[in-house]
This record gives sequence, C-alpha cells and structure tokens, in this order.
Amino acid sequence: MMASQLITLNINMALINLSKSDYIKGLQCPKALWFSKNQRDLKLPLDEQTKSKFESGNEINDLARQYFLGGVKAADDYFDISKAVTSTKNLISQNHEIIFEATAQIENDGSHARIDILRKSDGKNGWDLIEVKGSTSQKPSHLNDLSFQYHVFVEAGYKINNTLVMLLNNDYVFDDKLDIGQLFKLEDITQEVIEGQEEVRLHKDNLQKSLKGKLEPKVKIGAKCFEKDGHHPECDFKHHCWKNVPEYSIFNVTTRKKTAETIIDEIDSYEVNDIDVSNYEKGIKELDIICYQTNKTHIDKEKLSEFVSDLKYPLYFLDYETFQLPIPIFQRARPYQQIPFQFSLHIQEKPNQELSHFEFLHQEKSDPRKDFIQSLINNCGDNGSIIVYHESFEKTINKQLARDFPEYSESLLNLNKRVIDLMVPFQKKYIYSPKQQSSNSIKKVLPAFTDLSYQNLEIKSGGDAMSIYADFIKGKINLDEDLIKNLLEYCKLDTYAMVKLLQKIVKFSQK
Ligand code: SF4
Repeated sequence: MMASQLITLNINMALINLSKSDYIKGLQCPKALWFSKNQRDLKLPLDEQTKSKFESGNEINDLARQYFLGGVKAADDYFDISKAVTSTKNLISQNHEIIFEATAQIENDGSHARIDILRKSDGKNGWDLIEVKGSTSQKPSHLNDLSFQYHVFVEAGYKINNTLVMLLNNDYVFDDKLDIGQLFKLEDITQEVIEGQEEVRLHKDNLQKSLKGKLEPKVKIGAKCFEKDGHHPECDFKHHCWKNVPEYSIFNVTTRKKTAETIIDEIDSYEVNDIDVSNYEKGIKELDIICYQTNKTHIDKEKLSEFVSDLKYPLYFLDYETFQLPIPIFQRARPYQQIPFQFSLHIQEKPNQELSHFEFLHQEKSDPRKDFIQSLINNCGDNGSIIVYHESFEKTINKQLARDFPEYSESLLNLNKRVIDLMVPFQKKYIYSPKQQSSNSIKKVLPAFTDLSYQNLEIKSGGDAMSIYADFIKGKINLDEDLIKNLLEYCKLDTYAMVKLLQKIVKFSQK
C-alpha cells in the first residue's frame, strides 16, 4: 500500500466502525450503543439465564454446521477482525464453497460483519449469506441483523445473491437419532433485505454520528428499554437510566408503554400519584391508579361469588414445573417443547377440611413424562375442580402430553375439562389490591393478600427451577438432597398459595 493510500485509510478509520452487534444495539437505542462503547463499566455482568442462552446458541451453531457438509471455519479468534477477513479471503481463493464465520470489513469506515455461513450460490456467480438463529420463527431483529450483514458484505466487494435465516423447525419430532436435515429450516428473506438497504445506510450514518459525541445522546426512557436484544429481556443499562423511576410508576399503569411516555411528558413525573385520571379516557388502568391513590382494595363481591359458585369439591390445587431444550433429546419431543418434570397437588375434599398434599419430582436423567402422567392421573381423581393459576400453561402441557402419549389422551383431556383458573378474579379485577402493583403474577398477588411470599425460598421462580432441572438433564449438575428439597418447596408453595388465595376470595365473596 502506498503512503498516500495509508493516510487516507487512517483518516477514514477515524469514522466510527460498527459491528453487527453495535448496529443492532444502536437500532434499539443510540444511548445504549454509546454506553457500550464509552462506559462499558455501566453494563451489568451476565446473569446465569443469559449465559445459558449463549451456551445454547453455541450448541445450535455447532449443529447447524453439520447441515453444511464440507464447510470450513474462517477464524477462531472472535476479536481479531482483520485476521478473520484475511482468512475468509484465503479460503475463497482456495475454492472453498462453504465458510463458517466468514468475515467482511468495509474499507472506508472499518465496519465489519461475521456471517454464520457463507455459501457459494447454487449455479450462480456469488454467495449466499446464512445466519443461524436459535428460535423457531422469524423475528424483526433477524431482518435487521441480515440487512446489516448484507450491507457490509456488498460494500466489501462480495456479490450476494441470497440472504437466508436458519431456524429450528418446531414441527420436527425427535425419534431415536437427531436428524439434522429435519431439525433446521431455511427461510429466504433476500427481498426484504434488499428493500431495507437505504434504511441501513441511514441508521448506520446516524449511529456513527452519535458515537462521535463526547456526551451520551439524549434519549428518553420508554418502550425501547424493554425490547429484546437477542438474549436480553431488557436493555443492559436500564439500572442506570431508570434510577430515578420509582419501582411502581406510570409505566405500570398504562396499557401501552408508548402511552406512558406521552403521559410522563405531559405531567413531567413518573409518579402514579401525579396522574389525574379524569384527563385520560383511554390507555390507562384507571382502577389500579385510583386504588393506589386512595390506598384501597377493590372488591366485586358479586363476581367473586359467581367465581366461587363454579367450584366443585373435592378441590385439587395443581401446579407444574417444566423445562425446555432447544434441541430435543427425548423421543416424541420437539425443539423448545415444555417437558413437565414436577407437580405439586394440594387436595381438599370438603370445605374447611384438612388438606392433603402429594408431590411428584422425576429424579432420573430420563424422560419424565410417562411417570409424570401416570402419577398425575392416579392422584387427580375423576371429579372435582382442578384449580391452577394461569390455566393456559397446564392445559397446553396436558394437550401436548395427550398428543405425544395417545394411550393417556382421554384421561389427560378430561383433566382439562375440570380446570378452573384462579388467576381470573385477579386478572379481571374482581379483586385488586394496590400492593399487587398492577401485576396478576402469583408472586405479587400472594404477598398482597396473605403473610406468605416467595422471598425466603432458595428457588424463587419457575425460571430458576427450569434452569436447574435443565442443567441436571444435561449432566451439568446432580440433583442432590438440597436441590430436591428446594425444588419441592418451591412447587409446594405454588399450590399452597392458591389454597390461601382461594380462602381470601371465599371470605371476600361473603362479606
Ligand atoms: S435503558 Fe433505555 S434509554 Fe437507557 S440506554 Fe437502555 S434503551 Fe436507552
């Protein structure tokens, strides 16, 4: 390279180079991108669930490579971009037709992208870009992702014919051996990617400009702070930007986060106490606001009585725990299928009678479903209401079990006919306490109406139980005595919580 060329390149490299992750982050929020470049220490360390999602992503990527026979990897060092770019070019010059982690870089600004699979187009001059995603359907972020990749590869001089997203196929049913051809499906999004190229240039330009600023860009908090960025359920910097927002704020009492943004602008406050409900006809949770401002519990005695009158003794309070794996390992299971491994069952034969309790936890590293079904059917009797919290979960599991184990189908579907959803009185606001903070989750409802809570348990959520059990099934941990005790205690509280909440509902319905 001549000296004058070198100088030009260095000047241009002063332009901000963006990676694909930078671009996606910046689309969500330019301030998040600015923080990630300039104040990395603000970012919280990854939690266990996010780490586990990364691990699953790597596992899926490794399997996806088996789909493309004869592929070679461009580079191992994730951070050495120029080495990966050179390696990609070398592999192409050696006539390789499938390159994993192929990397391209735009000369004039250094922006770069690494594609999971670069494949020589069938019968054409040029290449296909294929990005592997660990989901079963397309998401808007996939299009953004591939649009940026396409931009970089084309600007770097590649002729790109097709862009495809590679997803897990949720119609695939595992038999006794993993069928890679069936596990994945390819979806062509070339047209949408090409149509979005002008927008990519515009966004990229804006992001590069905002990154040049010495101060973070001015961006208001709002709906974007909750948008999923690949693996994260909310923005990495929410703890920082939201530090002045109370735990219960206007964001909790509107039906859309966008409405919250408008109200906050209008009244210049995050406080629920500062909303005048008479100014808003739509988009707010009026009852929640009034209950909070007056510190009163709302009770619709008539509706509660109707709900109670539908109950038939004996009452079976039932709750399931499940886990899911992106890649199925049990026969008759699909990608991400919820596999039940545990249930808790409190039974009350007659009003005011003592409770009996039964629990099931599969402790072998094998498919829990058959034992789960048998135990469930044996213990749920033939009549009486089966009370669950958020019925679509247990009912869906029962339907899937009925589909996958047709020999038990009739009994399982009969259980569904007896289900009563205890969440309904809270969801439909037959009863509402300001302590619920606009949530119907049993984790919020239980402490709002009783002295009980999940706070003192070792396992505090279904998500925790799910990750622990998935780790056990994958052989990463053993189910020792403590873990068994913790899993049983957590699930038991879910059904005992329902017993206590129903007692409250009955009491309020009679007042
Ligand atoms: S918390 Fe919201 S405003 Fe702050 S950086 Fe993240 S997305 Fe942007």
